Amino acid sequence: MRSTSWPTQMSVVGSSVVLLATLTGCADAAAPDAPATPTATAAPSAPEQAPAQWSYEGATGPQHWGELADEFTACSSGTAQSPIDVPSDPALSSAPIEPGYTPADFQARDTGHTVELHALSPQSITVGGTEYAFQHMHYHAPSEHTVDGAAYAAEFHFVHRSENGDLAVVGVLAAEGRHNAAWSSVSDAIPATAGEDSPAVTGLTLTSLLPESLDHYVYGGSLTTPPCSEDVRWLLLQSPIELGAAQIAGLRSAHAGNNRPVQPLNDRQVSEVDQ
Ligand SMILES: [Zn+2]
Repeated sequence: MRSTSWPTQMSVVGSSVVLLATLTGCADAAAPDAPATPTATAAPSAPEQAPAQWSYEGATGPQHWGELADEFTACSSGTAQSPIDVPSDPALSSAPIEPGYTPADFQARDTGHTVELHALSPQSITVGGTEYAFQHMHYHAPSEHTVDGAAYAAEFHFVHRSENGDLAVVGVLAAEGRHNAAWSSVSDAIPATAGEDSPAVTGLTLTSLLPESLDHYVYGGSLTTPPCSEDVRWLLLQSPIELGAAQIAGLRSAHAGNNRPVQPLNDRQVSEVDQ
C-alpha cells in the first residue's frame, strides 16, 4: 500500500491540549440491535466475479475482512489502519483545514453499510496547500474513532480526494444532546432514504454541519471499510457536535453497529492542530 505523503514541514503551534470531557449518549452505543446487513459491497473486483461481501459481524466481520478478497488484504496485513483510539496528549502541528464548501444539493445513496450523501456540484477543502475534492459524506453509529478510550454515539466522515488520488477524511464526532437544527435536513433524509437512492437535501452548505472550532487531530491511516487502503489523511475534529436523541435514533434505524473496531497505532504519531 502506498503511504500517505505527510507534510514534513509541520511546526509546533497552539497552546495546551484540551481534552474532550463531555461524552453523553454512549451508554447504549454498543447495543447489538439492527446489525448491518451483509449486502453487496461497492468495492471493485474483476468484472466476472461477484463483489466480495463483508459485514460487521460473524464470518464476514472485521476480523475476517482481509481474507474475503485479494484486494482486501490490507485489512489484515496493514500497519497503518483506521480507526484508532486517539491518545490524550498528541503533539501539536499546523496545517489548518480551509473549507471551500458552497451551497449545494445532495443525493442519498444507501451502500448497504451506510447512507452516503453525494453533492451534485463540486465541493472542496484545502489542507496544507493541497486541494481535496469532496466525494461524499457518510456515517457510522456508534463512532469508529475513540478519544482516550471513549466512543461517541455517531461519527460522520466527509471524504475528499486530491488530484493525485490521496484521500483526506474529515471526521465529525456526534454526542447525543440537544436537537441540532443545522443537521435536521441530513438527519431527516438518512432514515427516509435508507435502502434506496433518491434526491435528499437541497441548498445545504457543508460548513454548517461542522462544529464552530475546526481544531483537530491528524494522523495517517486507512479506509475503515474494505479494501482498507492506507492512503488516508485523517482529520478528526476535536469538538463533537450534538444531535438529539431522535436524530441519533434515525441514524441507527438506517444502519447501526457499522463501526470497525479500533486498530493498533503502531509507530504512527497523532498530532493536534489548533486553528
Ligand atoms: Zn467511514
